[in-house]
Amino acid sequence: MAYAPQVVQAARERLEQRRQTADSQAAALQEKLCARIPRLLDIQRELTTALPAITRIILQGGDAAQIEEIQQNNLALQQEMADILHRAGFQMDNFEPQYTCPKCKDTGYENGKLCCCYRQLLQEEACRHLSSLSAVKLTDFDSLNMAYYEETVDKRLGVSPRQHMQDIITYCKEYAHNFSLSNDSLLLQGATGIGKTHLALAIARVVTEKGFSVVYGSMLPLLRQLENEQFGRSEGDSMAHLTTCDLLVLDDLGMEFDTAFSRSCIYNVLNARLLEGRPTIISTNLSAAALQEKYGDQITSRIVGGFVPLLCVGKDIRQIMRRRSMG
Ligand SMILES: [Zn+2]
Repeated sequence: MAYAPQVVQAARERLEQRRQTADSQAAALQEKLCARIPRLLDIQRELTTALPAITRIILQGGDAAQIEEIQQNNLALQQEMADILHRAGFQMDNFEPQYTCPKCKDTGYENGKLCCCYRQLLQEEACRHLSSLSAVKLTDFDSLNMAYYEETVDKRLGVSPRQHMQDIITYCKEYAHNFSLSNDSLLLQGATGIGKTHLALAIARVVTEKGFSVVYGSMLPLLRQLENEQFGRSEGDSMAHLTTCDLLVLDDLGMEFDTAFSRSCIYNVLNARLLEGRPTIISTNLSAAALQEKYGDQITSRIVGGFVPLLCVGKDIRQIMRRRSMG
């Protein structure tokens, strides 16, 4: 998979950061222990002279008995060190850097191949990069102000808009906190400004914090990026990241310009994710009929047939805020 240079750079910086942290923590602990128990420092010095000593003997023609003696001495020193550390409440391991990935020691490579930890970082950074193209910011569930939802019972809903929204929030919280790749896809519908985007981004935040790869954003900048890559104006393989990330959150579907290119991108992404069983969240102010009118059968059937619909109702929060700030 191709990655944009800034994605590779960010992933490499994170690996480097991990390695430096592990090295400096180990060095700090060694220094502290050696200051407390000077004998540890002597042992370390003696151990580091062993290898050059053996090399010298081999280069001079080799004396098996001498080499054996040095090796026995080394083993005894290591045992003494282990005993000292044990008495001080530590283990030999504590003297070694504790790498996040012991397989590649946070270098990103194992046996000349990309280590899985590096692949994971590249995927995370690619998702972060794509998400950063949109102006949307992640948020949390609790900052949604319930005062904007009516308390009186709505006949069509059978409950008050506030209760209805409360139920949707509970559902979305559970969805996010118990997230797995087998989660359903969600369609958050409703008029502009009643909290759909807020909910979608709150889910994206929790799922991101759980360590899943999440791309979130408005359709428009994502499509622009796909177009730039298609025509060689930008490097990367965003289509692959959009289809393979653990969760894709498409905000405000329907606000993008309708072109043959945008339509085929939306279809390809949704179809690939549905076939692979990867969850997607769409927020839109279009009804099923309006989706049908804008996108036609192919896309609408994928959404209507494959997504759990959640209808948000309430007053337009932005309008109320505007009115308040004016008054
Ligand atoms: Zn690794």
